[in-house]
Amino acid sequence: MKAQRPPSVDRLLGSPLLAGLTERHGRASVVQVVREQLEAWRAAAAGGFELAPFERACRDRLEARAAPRLGPVFNLSGTVLHTNLGRASLPQEAVDAVAAVMRQPCNLEYDLARGERGDRDGPVEELLCELTGAEAATAVNNNAAAVYLMLNTLALDREVPVSRGELVEIGGAFRIPDIMQRAGARLVEVGTTNRTHRADFAQAIGPATAALMKVHASNYAIEGFTAAVPEAELAALARERGLPLIVDLGSGSLVDLSRWGLPPEPTPRQTLAQGARLVSFSGDKLLGGPQAGLIVGERELVERLDRNPLKRALRLDKMTLAALEAVLRLYRDPDRLAQRLPTLRLLTRPLAELQALAERIAPALAAALGPGASVQLRPCRSQIGSGSLPVDRLESCCIAIGAAGRASGAYPERLAAAFRALPRAVIGRIEGGELRFDLRCLEDESGFVGQLAALVV
Ligand SMILES: *Cc1c(COP(=O)(O)O)cnc(C)c1O
Repeated sequence: MKAQRPPSVDRLLGSPLLAGLTERHGRASVVQVVREQLEAWRAAAAGGFELAPFERACRDRLEARAAPRLGPVFNLSGTVLHTNLGRASLPQEAVDAVAAVMRQPCNLEYDLARGERGDRDGPVEELLCELTGAEAATAVNNNAAAVYLMLNTLALDREVPVSRGELVEIGGAFRIPDIMQRAGARLVEVGTTNRTHRADFAQAIGPATAALMKVHASNYAIEGFTAAVPEAELAALARERGLPLIVDLGSGSLVDLSRWGLPPEPTPRQTLAQGARLVSFSGDKLLGGPQAGLIVGERELVERLDRNPLKRALRLDKMTLAALEAVLRLYRDPDRLAQRLPTLRLLTRPLAELQALAERIAPALAAALGPGASVQLRPCRSQIGSGSLPVDRLESCCIAIGAAGRASGAYPERLAAAFRALPRAVIGRIEGGELRFDLRCLEDESGFVGQLAALVV
């Protein structure tokens, strides 16, 4: 039945379908969507008004609005700690700890033994000191905030020499020179891009110098004719001149990764032992915890950080603190860490396991894609990611999907879009005219295979 003009919003809301949608989505949402759709209909001015397609459009729009925008994906990109995909996945212990403090009041800043106000970073500080040998520790929102807080606290309106080889950009807006400027400190560039010597630092130190800084080259490597001043030597120079050496370690692993055959990454413990007085690192890179910036070092300096009013602006919330405490606790038992900490579990997954997984799921993929696709197993190399261990790659296994027969230019992109449109989006990588899925981070095998029936290419 055709009517030339649409009924009123009230009349529309009374239709059985829209009344049902009101039950589901609430009246306010339905009214808003009905108004939007009416406007769209008027703008299109395409003949008479038809109720059924109008209602369907409202339903689709409401369903789309109701679906969460932030949600889990399958990270088959080949980068384990992928910043765009949320970096580290948390262990169950951390998930439980977060849920517990979310649902009810907790002793966030309350000392239960003494019945008075307590220190919110206390539990995490104790664990960090135990795990790094530091005298004191503090925690903020991320490592960028940690670097900012260290510079603003120790070097406001003063100078900080940094090697030209370490003026890093991490991606996004994190560049050492910019952070330095925003923190109110003056960067003094020292040495050259490829070679910096002790004498370069010695010459740069003057009455306005507040600290020496070292930044770990976490997402690049300078190779060839190079020289950098080792931490111990720089720390000795700093001490001689009565200055602190502060180190941005970037990822910073709390354990020696070579134990699991992974490329070594400096630990905060080693860096402190070499004489650094403050060391900062991320919570959600190799550490495998929630987003956080951790600073460990000398008590007197950490107390100054905690007294800076900016600390309040950068402090962690109870959910992050709960997750962090649970993750740090796992480090007390390094023997079981590779099973319990997802990041380490994924980084140390045996190649044979990945190959067996690929062989199991390739037939399901081939069946879902039909004869137009060629599905092949390939050796590949996973990246650790997030600026951790930039050069070393881990041997892995991937499934490569291309067009069977004649190569079709747009096919990999179309395929990638189809996988992204699945209920739980699958993120791969397009390379060599194929869509490649690195299986290192695929743990929910049945979840992956189970949704292939919904694939529309
Ligand atoms: C990753 C990184 C940062 C930034 O850390 P976020 O936790 O992402 O804020 C800073 N410095 C270095 C050297 C890094 O590798």
